[in-house]
Amino acid sequence: MPQSHPISEKLIAWYKKNKRDLPWRNINDPYKIWLSEVILQQTQVVQGLNYYITFTETFPSISDLANAPEDQVMRLWQGLGYYSRARNLHAAAKTVKQKHNGNFPNTYDEIKSLKGVGDYTAAAIASFAFKLPYAVVDGNVYRVLSRLFNITTPINSSQGKKEFQQLADELLNHRYPGMHNSAMMEFGAIWCKPNNPKCENCPLQEYCQAFANKTVGILPVKTKKITIKNRYLHYFIFNYKGYVYIQKRTQKDIWQNLYEFYLIETELPTDSEKLLKEKMLNPFLENSILMSVTNEKKHILSHQHLFATFYELNLKKPLNNPSLLKIKRSDLINFGLPQLITKYLEKL
Ligand code: SF4
Repeated sequence: MPQSHPISEKLIAWYKKNKRDLPWRNINDPYKIWLSEVILQQTQVVQGLNYYITFTETFPSISDLANAPEDQVMRLWQGLGYYSRARNLHAAAKTVKQKHNGNFPNTYDEIKSLKGVGDYTAAAIASFAFKLPYAVVDGNVYRVLSRLFNITTPINSSQGKKEFQQLADELLNHRYPGMHNSAMMEFGAIWCKPNNPKCENCPLQEYCQAFANKTVGILPVKTKKITIKNRYLHYFIFNYKGYVYIQKRTQKDIWQNLYEFYLIETELPTDSEKLLKEKMLNPFLENSILMSVTNEKKHILSHQHLFATFYELNLKKPLNNPSLLKIKRSDLINFGLPQLITKYLEKL
């Protein structure tokens, strides 16, 4: 077994004293560790905490999650965004139930073969739950390593990914892989932070090449290549005597399997009046009175800017459209809806 690196020893000592008390720490239930990891991808701990509690209370075991209707899973996930995580979570739970008799797989390769589980999540579950020697590399680890070793290779390049993974593997403590990984991530989250890292009192200062070279502020390096897509969304809310019409989004999209109002999406900004003259709206508009149109509201996601307009219409007679589901307006809260629709409804 390789000897542990002094950096790892210092990190673990620091972790024991400074770690935050979080419900997914000090447990070795792979199901709950997996849940916490999936929830915390792209989500802050403060926001993810309540979701973790709700999920573990509603579905105490992976079989409970596998047996749940997808609509329920999507509704509980509502507000967390990146809904593919919830769809994959549900699909993977079903795989564990069917293929592994409800027992979470205990090898890295089997864990990684589950839907939605990548290198990072597989290493996290393998090391936290099964004490297997796999090093995790998340955003916090990239930052800590880039500073400790003064590495300027962009962390989002394929060369960077290889280089940082190799370094993380070399530093890994084989006796305590789970604790080492937790310590590394926690250190990045609360000590070696993106802004104002606590360099003055840092237990790793003597090893930190960025501190010695005064390059802390410019590390880690990232290449800018994110393309932002603009989407113009026009939601039509057809009201009839306390009922509204919704549809389930079946196409591949960030909101796949969530519910929404009748939607027209355009690639370019479109004036509401012009849109209301669209031929495709005729069958609906002939039968309804337009009550209100909101101003366009912007919602910012990491890769998309959404511009949403809501149209409230009162129908003179019920709609006869098989793709639309008629429900009581007061029952909307029981359906998984995109966050921008929930926000609109809350404002009302
Ligand atoms: Fe991070 Fe500063 Fe410590 Fe270096 S000295 S590891 S930059 S907190």
